Amino acid sequence: MMRTVVRNTFYIHTFGCQMNQADSGIITALMRQEGYSPAESEDEAGIILLNTCAVRENAVDRIENYLQRLQGLKKRHKGLIVGVVGCVPQFQKEEMFSISPAIDFLAGPDKYRSLPLLIEQVRAGLRPLSLEFNSAETYEGIDPVRQGSISAFVPVMRGCNNMCAFCVVPFTRGRERSHPFTSVISEVRQLVASGYREITLLGQNVNSYSDPEEGRNFAVLLDAVSREAPMARIRFTTSHPKDISEALVRTLADHPNLCNHIHLPVQSGSTRMLELMNRGHTIQEYREKLALIRSIIPGVVLTTDIIAGFCGEQEDDHQATLELLSDVRFDLAYMFFYSERPGTLAARTLEDDVPEPVKKRRLQEIIDLQNRISEELYQGAVGTVVEVLAESESKRSSQQLMGRTATNRVVVFDREHYQTGERLNVLITSATSATLIGKPDHAANHVV
Ligand code: SF4
Repeated sequence: MMRTVVRNTFYIHTFGCQMNQADSGIITALMRQEGYSPAESEDEAGIILLNTCAVRENAVDRIENYLQRLQGLKKRHKGLIVGVVGCVPQFQKEEMFSISPAIDFLAGPDKYRSLPLLIEQVRAGLRPLSLEFNSAETYEGIDPVRQGSISAFVPVMRGCNNMCAFCVVPFTRGRERSHPFTSVISEVRQLVASGYREITLLGQNVNSYSDPEEGRNFAVLLDAVSREAPMARIRFTTSHPKDISEALVRTLADHPNLCNHIHLPVQSGSTRMLELMNRGHTIQEYREKLALIRSIIPGVVLTTDIIAGFCGEQEDDHQATLELLSDVRFDLAYMFFYSERPGTLAARTLEDDVPEPVKKRRLQEIIDLQNRISEELYQGAVGTVVEVLAESESKRSSQQLMGRTATNRVVVFDREHYQTGERLNVLITSATSATLIGKPDHAANHVV
């Protein structure tokens, strides 16, 4: 049966990373300002926005599948408008329209302020797109609408000036630009006043932050955020190895509420591959950064990203990656095999010459080794007491809560009388390679 939708209600489906989740909060705030209100579900919405991510393989396939469903919904819901926003249309441009007749308009990551105008244009019978980069756009002055009341993301910079050969971000999010120091601090102040217990500073290349007003760097920003929110845990992601400075590491060591976890993507253990990837550092330099971090922050936990089978990778490059993992013993790694993204530096200049079975075999060896290391590290935590911020009910049982340590390890523990948002000591009684399991320890005298 044909149904008329509530015209000025919207529903956002978010794909991809934390940055996209944060952007959906900005879009929600912008739409509300213009008199639109969020719908409970896409079934009730007059406007459906797909906030898309182009980083992973099959991004377009996933969106295509989703759009097919929306096409059916459009037949039943008269007047339903579908907009595709974010990185994928920015990258695909008007070709995106050919993917599905369900798409009414396109908007890039710098054009969210245009959404009300685009919607009006659709209602006037057009099929518009707005994809220009705006290197001044930081959405300053927009108070994002956040999910939940415990953890909040605070974007501090957008875009990226690096040109890693495998990465689409420079083409989808444009040049790097940082939010003013004063506006980050006032956002943090508001979050503290609203009772948030954990704040994550976000950016594609967060540690290259540079205050546009007075040039203050990321170490100075972290120091100020830490003082502004002394009772909250402060995290940040994602960092580039070349922008890890001694001042930044010392700042992390100096403030107990700055979490002692650093996610530092390396991608490969071979300098030759890092050069081909255009990462801007050698493996020796990367190892030196880790040694510096470990010498200054006792108990720091390190995590990383790995790409197996990048263009030109030989067996000894792969062995160098395995060697790096064995030496460093990262807590966790996000591991993928290389797949070419059209338009990237690698797609334009390098041959994707490692056969897929070889890529898959190398990736499996990397995963097997890393899982073994993670399991050993997690088993090593059995019998210790860790401080956990309870985030949600465990997926498996309402009698258990799920939380994280300051080092970002997931902990599932007996609920007893504890509530989400509380910080408590948990005695770890068992572990898998990805989760610590335990029970509250009220008499804890050893907190790690
Ligand atoms: S640092 Fe490299 S991998 Fe990270 S967003 Fe920039 S170009 Fe992409």
